[in-house]
Amino acid sequence: MATLRFNALDIVNKRTPVPPSPASSKISDYYASNVFTIDAMRSCIPSESFKKLIDSIERGEKIDNEIAEAVACGMKTWAISKGCTHYTHWFQPLTGLTAEKHDSFYEPLSDGRTLDKFKGSELVQQEPDASSFPNGGIRSTFEARGYTAWDPSSPAFVIENGSIKTLCIPTVFVSYTGEALDHKTPLLKSLNALDKIAVEICQYFDNDVTRITATLGTEQEYFLVDRALYNARPDLFMCGRTVFGHSPARGQQLEDHYFGTIPPRVHNYMVDFEIELLKLGVPIKTRHNEVAPSQFEVAPIFEEANLAVDHNALTMDIMEKVSEKHGLKVLFHEKPFDGLNGSGKHNNWSLSTNQGKNLLGPSTKPKENLVFLTFFVNVIKAVHDYADLLRASIASAGNDYRLGANEAPPAIMSVFVGSQMTAILDELERNSTVKVDKGDNVYMKLGINKIPALILDNTDRNRTSPFAFTGNKFEFRAVGSSANPAGPMTILNLIVAETLKKFKTEVDKQIDKGIKKEVAIINVLRDFTISSKKIRFEGNGYSDEWVKEAQKRGLNNVNTTPHALSAYISKSSIELFTKHEVMTEREVYARYEIMLENYMKKVQIESRVMGDLAMNHIVPTALKYQKLLIDNVTGLKQLGLDNKETTETIKAISKHLSTIIKGVDDMTEERKKANTIEDMHKRATTYCDSVKPYFEKIRYAVDKLELIVDDEEWPLPKYRELLFMK
Ligand code: ADP
Ligand code: MG
Repeated sequence: MATLRFNALDIVNKRTPVPPSPASSKISDYYASNVFTIDAMRSCIPSESFKKLIDSIERGEKIDNEIAEAVACGMKTWAISKGCTHYTHWFQPLTGLTAEKHDSFYEPLSDGRTLDKFKGSELVQQEPDASSFPNGGIRSTFEARGYTAWDPSSPAFVIENGSIKTLCIPTVFVSYTGEALDHKTPLLKSLNALDKIAVEICQYFDNDVTRITATLGTEQEYFLVDRALYNARPDLFMCGRTVFGHSPARGQQLEDHYFGTIPPRVHNYMVDFEIELLKLGVPIKTRHNEVAPSQFEVAPIFEEANLAVDHNALTMDIMEKVSEKHGLKVLFHEKPFDGLNGSGKHNNWSLSTNQGKNLLGPSTKPKENLVFLTFFVNVIKAVHDYADLLRASIASAGNDYRLGANEAPPAIMSVFVGSQMTAILDELERNSTVKVDKGDNVYMKLGINKIPALILDNTDRNRTSPFAFTGNKFEFRAVGSSANPAGPMTILNLIVAETLKKFKTEVDKQIDKGIKKEVAIINVLRDFTISSKKIRFEGNGYSDEWVKEAQKRGLNNVNTTPHALSAYISKSSIELFTKHEVMTEREVYARYEIMLENYMKKVQIESRVMGDLAMNHIVPTALKYQKLLIDNVTGLKQLGLDNKETTETIKAISKHLSTIIKGVDDMTEERKKANTIEDMHKRATTYCDSVKPYFEKIRYAVDKLELIVDDEEWPLPKYRELLFMK
C-alpha cells in the first residue's frame, strides 16, 4: 500500500476544525492595534517632531536626522510597550518573498547593566550583508553590502509569533552603489513620476490639486489543501503546483463552488488570518469561495498603492503562517491544478487627489467629467502604446500556465470599458452629439465643457478581459496570484505618467496656438481615442475568435515568459524607465536578468521534480502492478484460460512506461544542453522551448497510468483527495 498517501488520508479524516484565536467581536477594538499609527506616533513622539514627520510624509519628503532620532525613540517606546524585544528592517527583495533580519534592542553597558537602545540611524538605514539576494550582476561579491532604508510612507508594525514580538520597519533595499534590489524602490519612484505629471494635468482644471496618489485594491485568489496531503506531494512541496494528476470525475463543471458555503475548517482559517491582518491594519473586507473546488479569495479595501503593496505582502505572509495552525497549506501558485481555474491577483487601480477625489470616478457634473475622461482616455492610450511592457510586467513561470487557460485572461493585452463608455468614446471620436436620454441618464452634447453626465452601471462586467474598467477604477486582472503587485503597478504608473506627459505636450501646443484649453483637451482626447482604438475589446477574451481578431488588429500574443520579458529591454522601454527616473538602464538590465533566471530556475526545478517523481514513484509502482497482471495472465494460461483485456492493459502500461522513461531521458538531455548556455536569455528561452514541451508528454502518460494502476498502490494523493477533502 502507498503508505505516505494513506497515512496522510488518515490524518485528514481525523481532523477537526481548529477554532480561530479569540478576538473581540468588534473589529474596531483591535483594528491596527499592532501598527505604529498616526495616533500611536502622536502619543510617543514629541509634538514638534511629530508635526515635522507628518509634514514630510505628506509631502513625500526626506526626514532629517533630528526627527529620525525622535521617531526612533518613540517607536522603541511604543514597541517595547507592545512586548517587542527585537526590531527588523522589513523589505521585499526580488526573490518574491519578504525578508527580515532581526536585531535586539538590548545593548550591554560597560558597567554590566543593560539598556534598550534604538538609534535614529538604525531606524533610517541599515547594512544587511545581503550577498545572497538576487542582484542581476549589480553587486560583485566583494562588495556584498546592501542598504535598507526606512520608508516613512508605510507605518511600522509588530509581528507576533506566539509570545515573540518583533517590530517591523518597512524599508527599501538598494545596493552599495545605490541601485534598487527590491520591488518597492521602483514603485515609489513610479508613484512620484505619476504624481508630478498628474498634478500638472489636474491643474488644468483645479489649482487646489497638489498631490495625486495611485490607489490599489488587490483581490487575492488562492487554493487550500490539507497539509498532510501537501506533504505527500513532492511536486506541490517543491514547485507549488502539481506536475501530475488526472482530473477528478468531478472538477468545476457543476459550478457549485463559486460563492458557495465556506467549509468550517476553511472558515475558521479565514477568520483567524483576518484577525491577524486586521490587527496589522490591513483593511480586509471580503472573503468568498472561488470558481474551482478548494479555491478562495480574500480582498481588502483599497489604499494608497505603496501601502497596499506592503499589505498584500503581509497578507501572503500571514496567510501562510496561519494555515499551518489549521493543518492547511495555502497555495499562491497561479496554476496548482491542471484543468481547473488558475489564481490571479486582480489589481484594482485608480488615482486620487489630495482632496480625496477619485479621478476615475465619473460624476454628474460636466466639468468634473472632463477630468474623468482625460484620465480614462489616457490610461487606455497608455495600455495601447505600451501593451508589450505591460504584458512583460505580469510574466512569470507560474502565470504562463494560467494566461489563456481555463477562465483566465489571455496573454493578449486589451481593455474592456463597458457599453456606456464605449458609446461615449465613439461619440468623442465622431465629434457629434450624444444621444439624449430622458430620466436619470441625462447625456449632453460632447464638446467644449459639455461632457455627458455619466451614471455608470457597475454591473457591466467582463470577466474575460485582462484590463477592465469597472465603474470607477481599472482592474488589471492578468496579474498572477503569487506576484508582488509592485511589479505591474510600477509599469502601469510609469506608462500612464508617460502618456499624460505626451498628452500635456499636445494640449499645450494647441493652447499656444490660441485654441481654448477645453477644446484643446477634447481634441487631444479625440486623437488618443482614435489612435488607441484597437486595444479596446468588449467581447469574450477567452474565445479563439479573439485570438484571430487580435492578430488581425496587430496586437501581440506573447504567451511565454522569456519571450515576453524582452519588452523590458527594448529601446523605448529603457528610454521610458530612465526618462522618468524609475530605473537606470543598469537596473533594468539587472532586473531583466533576475526575472529570466528566476523563470529558468523554476522550469529547471519542475523538470527535475517531474523526472524524479516519474522515475522513483510512478515507474516502480506501474512496474509492480504490471507484474501482478503478468502473473495473473501466466496463471490463467497454465489453467488453459485466456484474458485478452488484461494482456491489453499490460501492453498499455508498457507503452506509457516507455513514453515516460524516454521522455525523462530526452528531457534530461535537453536540460544538460541548456545548462551549458551562458547567455541567460538564450538559456531561459531554451528551457521554455526545448525542455518544457516534455512536461505535457510525460504528464499525459503518467495520468493515464493513474487510471490503470491499483488505487491502493498509487503513491501520490489524487486530485479528488487534494480538492475535495474537507
Ligand atoms: P469586485 O471587483 O469583486 O466587484 P469591488 O468592485 O468592490 O469588487 O472591489 C474590488 C477591489 O477594488 C477592492 O479591493 C476595492 O477596495 C477596490 N477598489 C474600489 N475602488 C477603488 C479605487 N478607487 N481604487 C483602487 N481600488 C479600488
Ligand atoms: Mg474584481
